[in-house]
Amino acid sequence: MKNQLLAEKEIEQFLKGNSFLDRVDALYEHQLNNWKVAADNYANLSYTITKDIIIDGTSCRIQVNPKRIISTSADVKKNISETECILCETNLPAEQRYIKYYKEYNFLLNPYPIFNEHFTIAKSKHIPQSILFYLNDLLLISRDVSKKYIVFYNGPACGASIPYHLHFQMGNKESFPILEQISTRAINKSNLSIDRKRININCFELTNRNILVIESHESIEILNCFSIINNVLKSVSSNTDEPMMNLLCLYENKKWKLIVYFRKKHRPRFYFEEGIKKIMVSPAAVDMSGLIILPREEDLDKLDENKILEMYREVTIAKEHFEYLKTKLKDFYN
Ligand SMILES: [Zn+2]
Repeated sequence: MKNQLLAEKEIEQFLKGNSFLDRVDALYEHQLNNWKVAADNYANLSYTITKDIIIDGTSCRIQVNPKRIISTSADVKKNISETECILCETNLPAEQRYIKYYKEYNFLLNPYPIFNEHFTIAKSKHIPQSILFYLNDLLLISRDVSKKYIVFYNGPACGASIPYHLHFQMGNKESFPILEQISTRAINKSNLSIDRKRININCFELTNRNILVIESHESIEILNCFSIINNVLKSVSSNTDEPMMNLLCLYENKKWKLIVYFRKKHRPRFYFEEGIKKIMVSPAAVDMSGLIILPREEDLDKLDENKILEMYREVTIAKEHFEYLKTKLKDFYN
């Protein structure tokens, strides 16, 4: 049986401290020193073309990243077994190694990065992407890495290119424009604000995205709130799948902040156009956060302010469903 776990002896030479983040740093250094594909892609990341666009007073960044084409254009309907799954240990590239987070998760360096440090956090077992049962894991992991990273989740039908194997990802905090966007504007623009002793909930619309932010010192409060949301969304949906959403999680000043983008569609219409009209963008948690990834440079001039707003409007949950959710939350917390 293949064993890709990084041995303590191999970690030691890169280890600078005793925290879990020190181990993550050591994995990063080890991989850059021993895996040429990853090392080259990280070195090239600083040369990627980026463009900043101000929309409605908030700043978005477009990143041209040709290496992301596999993920952007992934056919997400495939149901793949352990024998072929690229997050299962047996199928990892020979150079790709991992460290354990307790017994439950494997931290892997993403060889096709969007961020200066970009990791995939794969469940040790091959089980499908599902947030309802594993939200607590997202909270725990983010508590342990938030000094440096945001941990995010893409639902199986709205951005996860490997939906058949439960995983989160994480990237450097400063790469997510949404944090700046909500700190400066959300409070004014918030159109539902529930402020209780143990929990704060804010719902607002920002550049056509319907966003919900839950904050609490207590994980149980977030889990309860999330289960209410899940039930409300299921009640307005015709299918039994997990409601479409992307999540970001961070932990600061002993408080969790969970940012939720509710979705109704995976890709905008112009993704499916042919020829000059086509813009290849497949929005997931990162793109919804204002860092939009384009695998094709030819799309850079086409994706202007109007197209970004069009994209956000098309993939975001229908207004009436968001309003209904707000009403339900208000009822519950009043
Ligand atoms: Zn797998």
